[in-house]
Amino acid sequence: MKRAFNFNAGPAALPLEVLKRAQAELLDFNNTGMSVMELSHRSKDYDSVHNRAKELLMELMEIPSNYDVLFLQGGASLQFAMVPLNLLGEGQVANYILTGVWSQKALDEAKLVGQTRIGASTKENNYTSIPKLSEIDIDPNDAYVHITSNNTIYGTQWQEFPDTGNVPLIADMSSDILSKPIDVSKFGLIYAGAQKNLGPSGVTVVIIRQDLLERTPENLLTMLKYTTHAKSNSLFNTPPTFSIYLLSKVLEYVQEQGGVASLAKQNELKAQMIYDVIDSSDGFYNGHAQADSRSRMNITFTLNSDELTQAFLAESKARGMVGLNGHRSVGGCRASIYNAVPVEACEALRDFMIEFRKNN
Ligand SMILES: *Cc1c(COP(=O)(O)O)cnc(C)c1O
Repeated sequence: MKRAFNFNAGPAALPLEVLKRAQAELLDFNNTGMSVMELSHRSKDYDSVHNRAKELLMELMEIPSNYDVLFLQGGASLQFAMVPLNLLGEGQVANYILTGVWSQKALDEAKLVGQTRIGASTKENNYTSIPKLSEIDIDPNDAYVHITSNNTIYGTQWQEFPDTGNVPLIADMSSDILSKPIDVSKFGLIYAGAQKNLGPSGVTVVIIRQDLLERTPENLLTMLKYTTHAKSNSLFNTPPTFSIYLLSKVLEYVQEQGGVASLAKQNELKAQMIYDVIDSSDGFYNGHAQADSRSRMNITFTLNSDELTQAFLAESKARGMVGLNGHRSVGGCRASIYNAVPVEACEALRDFMIEFRKNN
């Protein structure tokens, strides 16, 4: 077996150790004589998996006790709808900060629900940056302020978060959750599809401050209410049990690695390695993101012609590096180096980038 150097944007790399552990107990979980996939979601064996995932996430992210952690389905994309359906009251206005395709999609859903406005946008520079905090328009009457903490497609990331006062700050953290310590108490709600930094696709994590549950309208459909899932410990209906199980395994592994702070250090090293090659390439590689807005998770860059780009992708692929093609809206290349992408993969990419430049 030869494992690829996996730079996929999502679903993305999982820690090899986690996959091995899941493999070892695939046929017989915890002496049940069944796979965890075959357990009832109402059984005590599954219950301990479910609660362990929740407790570990609370511990690793230092989530305060006045927040609920929910395990939902429908991806981050369903959260684009559930956020305004639950939190945007009649006559209120929701404030969206536009930093890329995902924040635009979140805004588009909110527009179907109620009134919105745009508190800042970097669309005019093709989303190469994050707005300056001082340039963001926040009104104390906003229903909430929505941001995308890491822009997976453009390779930009918020380095600091805006102070929104009493207005709840809501963040789509799909592509950088758990990659660095954050102060959860600054946020009203955080959501993330698991398939980038947390585990496999199929489960979406929602972290919600409990007072916001009071905003859910009575007449909202049951499955779309945060309150339904908060009241039932995310067991109102059958949850994605295997995804939650793998999430718990990833979180155990993160804890063994020394937690989020030590991951953050490693992530910084990994990203710097690649950015250094870009910056010292005399324009052979061009970073898409402005230096002060660069993402440590998704590194986006272009080469100077289509031919070079195609050669770069083909040669890197021949060396076992996959997923380096950029998103169609940016073009060029993108290296997604989430938590589970090992340092060795980044070193291999760095070495290849240096060599490719030399040869071309
Ligand atoms: C991948 C991604 C999404 C979409 O997630 P789904 O789970 O496919 O709905 C949304 N936001 C961000 C920032 C993403 O990276």
